[in-house]
Amino acid sequence: MSQADWGELDGKKVYLYTLTNKNGTQVKITNYGGIITSWVTADKNGKKSDIVLGFTDFKSYQTPPPYFGATVGRYGNRIAKGKFTLDGKQYTLATNNKQNHLHGGKKGFDKVVWDAAQTNENTPSLTLNYLSKDGEEGYPGNLKTTVKFTLTDADELQIVYDAETDKATPVNLTNHSYFNLTGDVSNTILDHTLMINADKYTPVDTTLIPTGELKPVQGTPFDFRQPKKIGRDIGKVPGGYDHNFVVNKKETSLQMVASLSDSVSGRKVEVYTTEPGVQFYSGNFLDGSLKTSSGNPINKHTGMCLETQHFPDSPNKPNFPTTTLKPGKKYHTETTYKVSVSK
Ligand code: BGC
Repeated sequence: MSQADWGELDGKKVYLYTLTNKNGTQVKITNYGGIITSWVTADKNGKKSDIVLGFTDFKSYQTPPPYFGATVGRYGNRIAKGKFTLDGKQYTLATNNKQNHLHGGKKGFDKVVWDAAQTNENTPSLTLNYLSKDGEEGYPGNLKTTVKFTLTDADELQIVYDAETDKATPVNLTNHSYFNLTGDVSNTILDHTLMINADKYTPVDTTLIPTGELKPVQGTPFDFRQPKKIGRDIGKVPGGYDHNFVVNKKETSLQMVASLSDSVSGRKVEVYTTEPGVQFYSGNFLDGSLKTSSGNPINKHTGMCLETQHFPDSPNKPNFPTTTLKPGKKYHTETTYKVSVSK
């Protein structure tokens, strides 16, 4: 594992860390926003390329791209109108997505400099710490947050999230990597094959806030229980996929919930998580205005996210699994992305 100077922000140094395993798989992560900037893996012919959207320089992240590779918090996804009531008190959060609160607000965890501790026992790993102060973006409580990334020799990127608070607060941490398994943004992800092990999803209103219903995927474009090409039914979903799936699993065990593959490169990513949901976002708002570091436009559907999470707007949906963290309790979730290749 190596460390390079990458810049400075808010009086803190920004570094780029490179985690390399014995297969030559390489993941780059910066302590700015806990962002995975690059993830280089071999295809079926041994050719290496980057399977996530990202940039090679710090400056490109200062005009914020839409959460490329970011660690998202304090609350990943939306909270309706930025309002919720906890223990009888109403809280108002920063609104940054029309009338709603999205991905932690104006300056979420993706836009702050984390403190990094490198650990390098047998497998390369990076631990990032951030103290989110009481009142930040409107949230109650000082939240001590730790995210640990480990790259194993089995080509798994393990992400472990821990947090503790001194006042009850909603917490929902995730990673926002955009995958394109072809390793080339001139291709869309519409020919990727996706499986999501979910019998139900959470339908949304026009502002992407869940209605509260857990709706069966059976007979809808949201049925990914058998692997299917993303492009097959996307035309039937206005705007494209941007939905939370209720995965079939026991709430706290680490289990495979989704798998994404591309037959041309032979690459596959399996997603394991302890979380009850996964947001499948098909890169609908990418519009070519952002360019890769080599100058290629990042067009619609050229990257897609599988964000493991609790359901959107849980603080206002008593029937959803709770996202409230109380003082004295520990927040702990795990997500592993396992990359493999087959001919
Ligand atoms: C959301 C999208 C949003 C994107 C941000 C996703 O997690 O569901 O609606 O546009 O993040 O780029």
